[in-house]
Amino acid sequence: MAMLPYGRQSVIDEDVEAVSAVLRSDWLTTGPQVDAFEAELAEVTGAAGVAAVSNGTAALHVAYAAAGVGPGDEVVVPPMTFVATASSAIALGAKIVFADVEEETLCLDPAAAAAAVTSRTRVVSAVDYAGHPADYDALRKSVEGSDALLLADAAHSIGGTYHGRPVGSLADLTTFSFFPTKNLTTGEGGGVAALDPELVKRARRFRNIGTIRERDELRRPDEGGWFYEVHEFGLNYRLPDVLCALGRSQLRRLGEFVTRRAALVARYNEALADLDGVRLPVRQPWADPAWHLYPIRVLDGRRREIYDAMRAAGIGVQVNYIPVHWHPAFADLGYRRGSCPVAESFYSEQLSLPLYPTLSDADQDRVIDVLGAALRGRARPAAA
Ligand SMILES: *Cc1c(COP(=O)(O)O)cnc(C)c1O
Repeated sequence: MAMLPYGRQSVIDEDVEAVSAVLRSDWLTTGPQVDAFEAELAEVTGAAGVAAVSNGTAALHVAYAAAGVGPGDEVVVPPMTFVATASSAIALGAKIVFADVEEETLCLDPAAAAAAVTSRTRVVSAVDYAGHPADYDALRKSVEGSDALLLADAAHSIGGTYHGRPVGSLADLTTFSFFPTKNLTTGEGGGVAALDPELVKRARRFRNIGTIRERDELRRPDEGGWFYEVHEFGLNYRLPDVLCALGRSQLRRLGEFVTRRAALVARYNEALADLDGVRLPVRQPWADPAWHLYPIRVLDGRRREIYDAMRAAGIGVQVNYIPVHWHPAFADLGYRRGSCPVAESFYSEQLSLPLYPTLSDADQDRVIDVLGAALRGRARPAAA
């Protein structure tokens, strides 16, 4: 029996046709699909604009660069995230200041964020863990009176809302990932949304090696039609037309994906409500999450045992995430275990159950049965 994954894409004939059509066109990379995908993303997220980029890590790098992060600046990051939320700012010479998460949502704690902000803080990055938006109104207060911008790492949460406002319109900068396990996919891909058009422009420039072609901004505007200048260094983080076509096709089904994910979450919540030995994810009344993960807590020190038992039974459970400051690259810089106790204690119990739009009710029932059996200590490996 094939391992049931914890996440996977949904690609249908419509997506394949959208990509094929672009492969037969004149443009493979930066062409009309990029502009259209960016416009549609801006529409869905309520941002002033979106820059499509080559992956979610690049999106973070671009967003930090657009925010002007440089050597000596501080960036506040919660440790309950994928390492890229922090490492992409390190790439610009920033110092990461870890701030703990809230017990219920596992998103950046506004009080911890406020305590971490200094005169050197350039960006405070929240992460919409599992697809549940962070508390952006409270986080906005945490950065008030400082020069810091608020960033949302929304790799999990595109399609979600906070107090009815869409993810993408909640922070100064919002980053997306379109990796296959995320809420919509372009294979590899990502986006940077911003509320200020100037930040969108800076993001697009960094993505395109820093090149400037706007005549009114050139230092030598009369050089000729071929002329461009680089004022600030950038990288090539472009997302090709071929993949933007896939993104546009996927975006048409985002609502469907989010609805199916929510239905599966409701089924898990109901089926697992009375199960001893686990705690289920919490939804705040002000959030309409775009559930990317279904993260449970396995109590009584049994996470390793339950992980092994479910894997042996063909259920591809996952752990999201290893606290970022525990990675040796951070430990070697002097970051210490124990500094973010809420995130660290959550990590020691965390287990992600399979969640993706094409997960069938029958397969989900199998996950539920295997988890129940494992908790009762009766899990058997699948027959070899
Ligand atoms: C997936 C992810 C990223 C990185 O995205 P890639 O497209 O894999 O580079 C960043 N942050 C979080 C929270 C993620 O889950």
